[in-house]
Amino acid sequence: MRASDLLHPRPEGLYCPPGDFFIDPVRPVNRALITHGHSDHARSGHRAVLATRQTLDIMGLRYGEGFAGTTQAAALGETIALNGVTVTFHPAGHVLGSAQIAVEHQGRRIVASGDYKRQKDATCESFEPVKCDVFITEATFGLPVFRHPPDSEEIARLLKSAAQFPERSHLVGAYALGKAQRVMRLLRDAGFDRPIYIHGALAKLSDYYQNQGIDLGRLEPATVESGGKDDFTGAIVIGPPSAFADRWARRFPDPISCFASGWMRIRQRAKQGGVELPLIISDHSDWDELTATIKETGAEEIWVTHGREEALVRWCELEGIAARPLHLVGYEDEGD
Ligand SMILES: [Zn+2]
Repeated sequence: MRASDLLHPRPEGLYCPPGDFFIDPVRPVNRALITHGHSDHARSGHRAVLATRQTLDIMGLRYGEGFAGTTQAAALGETIALNGVTVTFHPAGHVLGSAQIAVEHQGRRIVASGDYKRQKDATCESFEPVKCDVFITEATFGLPVFRHPPDSEEIARLLKSAAQFPERSHLVGAYALGKAQRVMRLLRDAGFDRPIYIHGALAKLSDYYQNQGIDLGRLEPATVESGGKDDFTGAIVIGPPSAFADRWARRFPDPISCFASGWMRIRQRAKQGGVELPLIISDHSDWDELTATIKETGAEEIWVTHGREEALVRWCELEGIAARPLHLVGYEDEGD
């Protein structure tokens, strides 16, 4: 059996014919295996969903309890048989509950890693390299120009700015699942013990993280209804990037606009977005993490998906590793 007979792209997503299931399908299907809760990977409307407990919980929070016909929780490392195909979930280090999915059949193992990073993140389990024949990697930041600095350095720059401008507020744009909670945790690890003000869109997921034992400290609502301008003097406020254009953002005193994203490596992009303090904090692998991980898996073949496929394919070829782009459509990560 060729690897492409075990997993290959279909319009709905990556499909396993012998197991009759899809991984992260972008359209409703009979059986979906989901790597993590970001909305481009985890969609509602599937008949059956298999994912980690935390990913199922997160889908429930985002879509409501009826998001799928039936659900099954996969424990990390647990072996699950689907029509004679073996699947196991392994931590991906991307966001809470995120997993790579290893698919094994007739002695061949393919690992679909979903989105992943190698930088340590106190809000989720660390990526675990899994030996395999074929490794499917993302390539969101698949260019050598993308090198993410240590996240503690980025948070130190935020705190330095907050100390320098105590009369202003700092508005930090961060995606609602994963990035926002990571920024909160990093602030706590750096010794910031004042309340962190959050946009309403972050409340449910942040509560869930806290309930899962990830201490984010005291979070206060930064809603339009509560408080006057003076209440937010010197405050650090976190909200989804989309909220920054709203009336919501104009209530804060002389705000300094910050954005936590791997894209902030590109100065032009920060400038265009009106970001005064770009924070290079990403939940995706940078170039060095991608290439190191490919080597660690020992895979003889690499399939590259969503992002800058070409450069990474070229790098593999120069290293003597077979590689090809997978051309999956519909993935625009909300958590970069
Ligand atoms: Zn993601």
